[in-house]
Amino acid sequence: MADSILNIVGNAELLARIRRDVMSNTLSHAYIIEGRRGSGKHILAKHIALALACRYSPKNLSSHNRAEISMFDMFEDEATTESADRLPCCFESDSELCNSCRKLLEDKCPDLYVIGRDGKATIGVEAIRNLRSSVHIAPIDMETKIYIIEDAETMTVQAQNALLLTMEEPPPYVLFLLLCNNSEALLETIKSRAPTLRTENLSDSQVAEYLVSHSNDARNLRNTSPAEFKTIVLSADGCIGRALELTDHKERKKISQRRAVADDFISLCRRRDSRRLPALIPAFGNKRDEATEILRLISLALRDLLLIKKSEKVSLKYYTDADTAVAISDDMTSQFILNVYNAVENAVNSFERNGNLRLTLTRMCVDAELL
Ligand SMILES: [Zn+2]
Repeated sequence: MADSILNIVGNAELLARIRRDVMSNTLSHAYIIEGRRGSGKHILAKHIALALACRYSPKNLSSHNRAEISMFDMFEDEATTESADRLPCCFESDSELCNSCRKLLEDKCPDLYVIGRDGKATIGVEAIRNLRSSVHIAPIDMETKIYIIEDAETMTVQAQNALLLTMEEPPPYVLFLLLCNNSEALLETIKSRAPTLRTENLSDSQVAEYLVSHSNDARNLRNTSPAEFKTIVLSADGCIGRALELTDHKERKKISQRRAVADDFISLCRRRDSRRLPALIPAFGNKRDEATEILRLISLALRDLLLIKKSEKVSLKYYTDADTAVAISDDMTSQFILNVYNAVENAVNSFERNGNLRLTLTRMCVDAELL
């Protein structure tokens, strides 16, 4: 296959479902694609777009198009009757991409729209009004007009209601793909009109294998600093996109800073040192995204500490050394670890709903009975 975007790792069930729906022309008008950052949501959305844009897509092989392709193929080197039976390029493992697929991957497809936050905290109603004004114009190249909405959970309620008006009676050629980390912030009325496709996390060994085969930096790092390589794999927590980001030098520095805050937090929990806790809160930074990254690390560490009480053979997600994890875990009860874990997860959910930074972190410490 000519492009790495088509080499999707994992998510086999989702891909099979998409392939079935594309081939039988039974795709819904809207999907929510839900999954953690770096778990392949964009790649999956691109894959659906490719399957529909492709010259060999069943939608594009409608009767008159089919005739055109047959005529066209007569002048091509390998003119065969096979072409009409061929699968879209993204489902073929070893054929060249057709022009339509290539155009889409080069961001030159006029029927694919991507709507995002543009650096803002939310997607406002204005962006959705723009979408609504273009939605009734028929597609140009494809039989389908695709709108990918990134970070869909950041749409304001007003924006979601505006989108809903279109989703209730969509033009027949429209497909909405709503990408989000957590669909809980979406209105029930939106969720009821869009089936959810959940991207899955990969195993640590799948992530390690992918990194080594796709990134020179990662390969070098594994040879020169195996412990750091392991930290990247563990920190990626099953997300290839995240793992690739983390191989960057600057990102690696950020990880070690985040891990330092997470280690400090766990150490304060271990000693039940509530006095020093308020002083640690500013170390979470002043952005929700950054604080969420640190909370995710703490969450992984707590998971390790809880599981290692049951068995020392458990595969660790945060600690690179089991002895350290056992020593820390011995100083805390399972119930206490679980309480802190739940408080941390609640804080992550609160950030996903744009909760106030300081307030959320303080409440987390109170809920965990640390303050
Ligand atoms: Zn194609």
